[in-house]
Amino acid sequence: MEYRIHPKTGDRIGVIGLGTGPIFEAPEREAVDTLIYAHEQGVNYVDLATAGAETFRYVGEAYAPVRGELFYQVHFGANYETGEYGWTTDLDTVKRQVEWQLNQLRTDYIDFGFIHCLDEAHDWRDYQDNGVLDYLLDMKKAGVVRRIGLSSHTPELAGTILDTGLVEQMMFSINPAYDYQHGEFAIGSAGERLALYRRCEAEGVGISVMKPYSAGQLLRGETSPFGRPLTKVQCIQYALDKPGVLTVLPGIRNRADMEEALAWLDAPEEERDYAVLGTFTPRDVAGTCVYCNHCQPCPAGLNVGLINKYFDLAAAGDPMAADHYRKLEKHASDCISCGHCDRRCPFHVPQTDRMKEIAARFGV
Ligand code: SF4
Ligand code: SF4
Repeated sequence: MEYRIHPKTGDRIGVIGLGTGPIFEAPEREAVDTLIYAHEQGVNYVDLATAGAETFRYVGEAYAPVRGELFYQVHFGANYETGEYGWTTDLDTVKRQVEWQLNQLRTDYIDFGFIHCLDEAHDWRDYQDNGVLDYLLDMKKAGVVRRIGLSSHTPELAGTILDTGLVEQMMFSINPAYDYQHGEFAIGSAGERLALYRRCEAEGVGISVMKPYSAGQLLRGETSPFGRPLTKVQCIQYALDKPGVLTVLPGIRNRADMEEALAWLDAPEEERDYAVLGTFTPRDVAGTCVYCNHCQPCPAGLNVGLINKYFDLAAAGDPMAADHYRKLEKHASDCISCGHCDRRCPFHVPQTDRMKEIAARFGV
């Protein structure tokens, strides 16, 4: 497993995590064995916005003995009273549910207590007016919840909630379909979505990625909006390249799904490459570096993607970005304007010009 460090909490989080959405469908033994297998492979981050109530019992059975090695995202607003997922902002229901989930999970604390799935401004108002936010904050004061999270599909509302300064982790749906305006949750323009990811990194808010395969839509030629399928490895790489992202949480049904997600760890560069998407880049982000490093190798030894990321993060207000940039071995001023990256970049980034701009901005 590879791990990324949460910039605020210092937590060491595995880049491949567990989306538990569909695991309730598996027979109990198979589900529990899959969860144990995931943990043995170094998976340590688990989202619990699942589709079915059985998941909590399965997770409790698999992970109670190793609870301290795992991080749980528990959602204040996910309701399983019918046995299936439901969404609520009713305070009494939320309270009953959190208590029930903790009981099923056989734990007495929550690593990340989430403001759950708010996409409309009135959802956020209800969440506050009904007292759910206060309840979550009280649970934090009492030490049951360690950190506050937020899940949303809407960049604008996510920005409003980030303005409160309460949120330390955000779960967001990141995949090329949604980022390029295809699919149910393709909310906000490509530029707005990218700006949100940059803001998270600049402010030290970690991102956990839901729906990295766009609910499977991207994996089949017939349903992929790009007319051809992407692989799971490409989708995971795409999400991990976005600023702020700490972990990707594919929905796991069984061991085969887990193995396919973990295959990213050993995949060679050419399997991770998603340059094919360059052909479909929306107009508002054409010419924007997406940090994919398809243009490598640079003959002067520059890490083109990382240099661009630090530049964009500095522009987004990240106080650490300039320092990170200066610590790189090679800087934009080392660019010899050979034009290799301009020719290789599938996203039409005029990189030789950009390197001059970056060198001028950082003075090196
Ligand atoms: S310049 Fe193009 S190919 Fe290179 S990292 Fe940026 S987007 Fe990728
Ligand atoms: S133009 Fe500059 S950054 Fe791009 S490949 Fe050539 S030396 Fe590297």
